[in-house]
Amino acid sequence: MSTRKTAIVTGSTSGIGLAIAEAFAREGCNVVLNSFSDTPADHAIAERLATAHKTEAVYLKADMSKGAECRTLVAEAAKRFGSVDILVNNAGIQHVAPVDAFPTDKWDAIIAINLTSAFHTIAAALPLMKQAGGGRIINIASAHGLVASAYKSAYVSAKHGIMGLTKTVALEVAQQNITCNAICPGYVLTPLVEAQIPDQMKAHNMDRDTVVREVMLDRQPTKEFVTVEQIAATAVFLASDAAAQINGTHISVDGGWTAQ
Ligand code: NAD
Repeated sequence: MSTRKTAIVTGSTSGIGLAIAEAFAREGCNVVLNSFSDTPADHAIAERLATAHKTEAVYLKADMSKGAECRTLVAEAAKRFGSVDILVNNAGIQHVAPVDAFPTDKWDAIIAINLTSAFHTIAAALPLMKQAGGGRIINIASAHGLVASAYKSAYVSAKHGIMGLTKTVALEVAQQNITCNAICPGYVLTPLVEAQIPDQMKAHNMDRDTVVREVMLDRQPTKEFVTVEQIAATAVFLASDAAAQINGTHISVDGGWTAQ
C-alpha cells in the first residue's frame, strides 16, 4: 500500500480537472484521473503525469452521469492505492438555451454530471476518509454557483445546488478532520468554454470576438480569463494543512465578477 496521499479528480482528461490532477501529482500525491471514455490517450495522460512527477497515476473510466459508476470510481481508487484522501468533484458539462426551449435530456445530464455525481462520490468517499482519520473534498462550482446568467438554467441550478451540498457535508463531518469546500471560477478558457462560444454567438447574434469581450469577459472586471493553473493552485491550497479551518465555504477565482 502506498503511503502517499491519494487524490481523485473527476473529469480530468482536459481543462481544469487535468490541471488539478497535474498539480496534485506535482505535490507527490497518487492521482486518479477520470472521464467517461476509455481510450489509449486517456491512459497516456496518467502515464505522462506519473513519469513527469515521479508518482503514481491511473486513469479510471467512470461515467459521472451514472451514480453506480461514481461510487465504483471511489471504491476502485481505494482498492488501488489504499485510501482516498482528496476528492475533487470537477466533471461538468454545459448547455446554453432559453429555459422554455431547454432540452429535457440536457437538463437531466447537467444535473446528473454537475451535481448528483458529487453526492455519489462524496457518499462513497466519506466512510474511507472517516476511517483514515481525515480528508479533503473540493467541489468545482462556478461563479454561476453564486449568480445567474440567462440561458444557463440547468448549469446555474446545478452549481447553486453544489454550493448547498458543500455546506451540508462540511457540517456533517466537521469534527472528523474532513473539510468540504467549493471553488468558484469565473471564465477559464478551456474546451468547455470554447464549446459555448458558437451557441453564445447564435443566442446574441454576435461574432466570436464580440462574444468573448462583451458577453464572457464583460462581467469579469480584470478582462482576463482565469487560468487553469490558478484554479489548480487554489485546490492544492484547500487540501493543505493551512486550510484545515476553511470549511463549508467557497473561494471565488473570478477576476472580481461576483463582487459586482
Ligand atoms: P472541460 O470540458 O475542459 O472538461 C470537463 C471534463 O469532464 C473532461 O475531462 C470531460 O471528459 C469530463 N466529463 C464530461 N462528462 C463526463 C462524464 N459524464 N463522466 C465523466 N467525466 C465527464 O471543462 P472545464 O472547463 O475544465 O470544466 C471543469 C469544471 O469546471 C466543470 O465542473 C465546470 O462547470 C467548471 N467551471 C468551468 C469554468 C470555465 O470557465 N471553464 C468556469 C467555472 C466552472
